[in-house]
Amino acid sequence: MTVYVECICGKKFHVDRAQVQKFDCEGCGRGLVVPSPQLEAQLNRIRERMKQGEPGMREAMSQGSSVTEAYFVALKTTGIAIFYTALTLAVGVAMWIFSELKFQADMGLMLTFMFVVNMFAALIFLPALCRWLLRPFEKDTFKPKV
Ligand SMILES: [Zn+2]
Repeated sequence: MTVYVECICGKKFHVDRAQVQKFDCEGCGRGLVVPSPQLEAQLNRIRERMKQGEPGMREAMSQGSSVTEAYFVALKTTGIAIFYTALTLAVGVAMWIFSELKFQADMGLMLTFMFVVNMFAALIFLPALCRWLLRPFEKDTFKPKV
């Protein structure tokens, strides 16, 4: 079976997996390994998952999910990114609090507070507002799989 292998130097090869397992790149001389069928299947699964992507709250709701279900899906994906971004920024500016300059220390305190409050608003307050305003009477029995 012929497999497509590409070196990081840009050279492309079509090799027969049954005859060749390892070979050297003609362009740069690097040793290349022909992927096994198991590794290739694993890579294809990862590629497929990356292509599909995870839906955000709006996409999940437009596909017929309840607000609770859509919130759970969004929390697992973009929620984690929001949490760590806010945490990183807050810790960074929190160091300003120990500054000798009064203005910088005050700004550090204010920005830390704002980053943390905005994170909680994005993760908790906005979805709650969304539930209350968009679908106030929706009954749902969604139980997240833990
Ligand atoms: Zn190469």
